[in-house]
Amino acid sequence: MKSVLQSIPSVDRILSSPALAATLASHGHSRCTTAIREVLKQLRKDLLANDNSAIATDADIAGMTAALLAADNQISLTRVINLTGTVLHTNLGRASLPSSAMAAIEDAATGAVNLEFDLAQGQRGDRDDHIENLIAELTGAEAATVVNNNAAAVLLALNSLAEGREVCISRGELVEIGGSFRIPEVMQKSNCTLVELGATNRTHAKDYEQAISPETALLLKVHTSNYEIRGFTQDVSYAELADIGRRHALPLMADLGSGTLVNLEDYGLEHEPTVQEVLTAGADIVTFSGDKLLGGPQAGIIAGRRDLINKIKRNPLKRALRVDKMTIAALTHVLRLYRNPDGLASALPTLRNLSRQPDSIRPMAEAVLPHLAGQLQGRASVTICEVASQIGSGALPLDKLPSIALRIEPADGRDSTLQAISASLRALPTPVIGRLHDGAMYLDLRTLETAEILIVAIQGLSAS
Ligand SMILES: *Cc1c(COP(=O)(O)O)cnc(C)c1O
Repeated sequence: MKSVLQSIPSVDRILSSPALAATLASHGHSRCTTAIREVLKQLRKDLLANDNSAIATDADIAGMTAALLAADNQISLTRVINLTGTVLHTNLGRASLPSSAMAAIEDAATGAVNLEFDLAQGQRGDRDDHIENLIAELTGAEAATVVNNNAAAVLLALNSLAEGREVCISRGELVEIGGSFRIPEVMQKSNCTLVELGATNRTHAKDYEQAISPETALLLKVHTSNYEIRGFTQDVSYAELADIGRRHALPLMADLGSGTLVNLEDYGLEHEPTVQEVLTAGADIVTFSGDKLLGGPQAGIIAGRRDLINKIKRNPLKRALRVDKMTIAALTHVLRLYRNPDGLASALPTLRNLSRQPDSIRPMAEAVLPHLAGQLQGRASVTICEVASQIGSGALPLDKLPSIALRIEPADGRDSTLQAISASLRALPTPVIGRLHDGAMYLDLRTLETAEILIVAIQGLSAS
């Protein structure tokens, strides 16, 4: 036994082995040393447990070291194929950017840019200068600013406009968005006092009138984006609220959540109040996300009255919540696409995916079907079926978009088989994420760019 253990090479011998040269060059001396120690420790353990095991060669040990380092070097954030049927999936990173925005990100990221530099004057500039006029042009707002996301936009606007004072909001709008964003909690963190009014299902103009006090600083209306109250309901319109605000000299702020700049009816979807409509109705400040219906990068846009925007820009919190040069580059390019509404549905992936008709999705399902069925032969049957996709990210929660899916049903009808198939799709080099429902797995192809992408991705599925 002792002699067998003595045959295990030293760390130095493996380090200088020609078989390790390439690994050494890419991972460096220190990481290689640690990994070799790990491999040798395991070998020693194996030998002690079973003295018949063959002695590994130096080349074997170098190979094991390389494999260990490669596994350890895996990057966790990876591209996946979203076939969940939710177009703007928050857990899967929401909007996919158009290629023009990608090019702009790369350009800004790889070098110096005039982020806060006025090229004409040769002086310090403001990062909002690159984007403020464009937002104003598209929304009709006097002024605008951009922060990290819409949650930040709401926090910053409330803190800038109503710190230490009261904000009136309808009980029906005290929403929670995705677990960690709840209006009452954001209000607290903004250092404002929430004054809730009306009932969950019905709020009237007189409820606002009664709630307003000398301590009131702001009226807030939140778009209840992820649920809908139906039945015996009543809420106060933006125009009525703006009117109440004017009579009491109080600004009206609207958190639109998704916020769209186009009439979604033009794309076969249900109407969602546009940013322009809400501003025209009299809102003084609106906030909305960059990566929901807008189809851009993660960002929060604040648009509205110049005096209020200036107040927001002067808040030191703005610095903590500001966006970087890559976001500004991408957002500018996405917003520019809105100057040509006719080309929008083809140029902007989010709108392209949302407006896609089943007739254009079905041929992809037919092309992928034989490949997927082949990979799952014996384990499951695959059929094409009609499904309903969702917009996601809270937008139009009840609006369902007719779509086409591949339906995977386990041959043995067992849930454990279905779970295993779902897990092997997630374990592919480019993971495929679907939706489990009623004993089957659905791959909704609305968000698939081409059949080829999925056919390539599922190669090797049968081996898992
Ligand atoms: C999504 C949403 C938010 C949060 O926006 P993020 O961009 O995710 O930070 C806030 N308010 C409403 C109404 C929303 O729908």
